[in-house]
Amino acid sequence: MFNFILFGPPGSGKGTQSVKIAEKYDLAHISTGDIFRKNIREKTPLGIKVQNIIEKGELVPDELLIEILEDAIDSFKGKAGFVFDGFPRTIQQAKDLDIMLNKRNNEVSLVLALEVNDLEIIERLLKRAEIEGRKDDTREVIENRINIYNNQTQPLIDFYKEKGKFKSVNGIGAIDEIFSSICREIEKVI
Ligand code: AMP
Repeated sequence: MFNFILFGPPGSGKGTQSVKIAEKYDLAHISTGDIFRKNIREKTPLGIKVQNIIEKGELVPDELLIEILEDAIDSFKGKAGFVFDGFPRTIQQAKDLDIMLNKRNNEVSLVLALEVNDLEIIERLLKRAEIEGRKDDTREVIENRINIYNNQTQPLIDFYKEKGKFKSVNGIGAIDEIFSSICREIEKVI
């Protein structure tokens, strides 16, 4: 199986590119942010638990991530692998993912980061706020999310570099150009 992590700060284009990658390589797209938003919309117990955390731009506790991940992984049968979008975001989550995949005789194949600077990210997210009206796309919450990314999520880069699984591509430019760069990297390992 090909288990791919699309990595990068909020607003780097992970969602857009993940959908295209999943389609091209027949992978199951797992976006933890989308799973949480769906639960919030449907007012499930999980949604009620995480709503406040997400609106403040903070990270949902790691234990909750393992639960939804186990369910998501097992709900896709017959796909060629996974594209993880917005997960893992902490070292603990990365370790949990390794355990989950190992149990299924699998492993992370490639972690690819979309490189986008902070100024561009803030601009993109404020624009997205106008279009999609996401509650966590206000300037204050955006800054919080970027700080959390820098402190808690960026350390994953070294974690995956040590395993020889980390690569990055330029995340600024036309969607299709970025997609081609991603595909080039995928095809080196697939
Ligand atoms: P995203 O759509 O990936 O930007 O996620 C939106 C929000 O959902 C994040 O700001 C977090 O509050 C929460 N979230 C999504 N994925 C994770 C994760 N892997 N770990 C912790 N919180 C998450």
